[in-house]
Amino acid sequence: MADRKPVVAGNWKMNKTSEEAEALAKGVVDAVSGVEGVEVVVCPTFTCLERVAGVVKDTSVCLGAQNVYWEAEGAFTGEISTAMLLTAGCSHVILGHSERRQFFGETDGTVNRRVKAALEATLSPIVCVGETQEERESGVTDSVVRTQVTGSLDGLSSEEVDKLVIAYEPVWAIGTGLTATPEQADEVHALIRSVLADAHGQETADSVRIQYGGSVKPDNASVLFSQPNIDGGLIGGASLEAVSFAAVVKGALG
Ligand code: PEP
Repeated sequence: MADRKPVVAGNWKMNKTSEEAEALAKGVVDAVSGVEGVEVVVCPTFTCLERVAGVVKDTSVCLGAQNVYWEAEGAFTGEISTAMLLTAGCSHVILGHSERRQFFGETDGTVNRRVKAALEATLSPIVCVGETQEERESGVTDSVVRTQVTGSLDGLSSEEVDKLVIAYEPVWAIGTGLTATPEQADEVHALIRSVLADAHGQETADSVRIQYGGSVKPDNASVLFSQPNIDGGLIGGASLEAVSFAAVVKGALG
């Protein structure tokens, strides 16, 4: 079994002005200082990236964005390029979040193009997948997640797949206070690993980190993260406050 370093990422979504983001980033840096063995990432909005980069520079905290476009430049109003994120100090980028899929028309096809562009630019993609409540209730969770993983990672080499992180985020658990049970979550993580094994071999499947996301809080983080196939989390609400985010990060310590 590969030795996977857990990764805990805070998705700040459309929250925090630059000043607030800078203060939150300072709080996170202080609160996680001395924590080793967990990769910590904060993902503010585009306008706050450079300011937060100034805070996390020379610390163990990494900077991520919440999306990226696949073209290098040009007439693509509202989009942002990999070069822009790199020069802003990003090392990670969240792609295919369910809110992008739900409200902004992202598909596995567009996620796939973004993933390829990010990898080419040496940004680490955090690729989100997950079923809706209706899909879970109709018993199609496995096929939905399998299709999303396959489509989002289409055409990638095993070396490329090795470099990304997958976030399993059941849509019904995001921002709702409902959490998948550790067993429910681990079952889907195991399925994702088997999809990766079919496409890229067991070694790659064993080395890819798969985060859980969906109402992770300080009080449920460690039980979720201690599941065999769960390698940390993608955190929304609880990442907006340094103390609670740091407590979640510490939940990933072995
Ligand atoms: C998310 O949006 O990625 C998320 C998991 O949000 P929350 O933790 O608030 O459920």
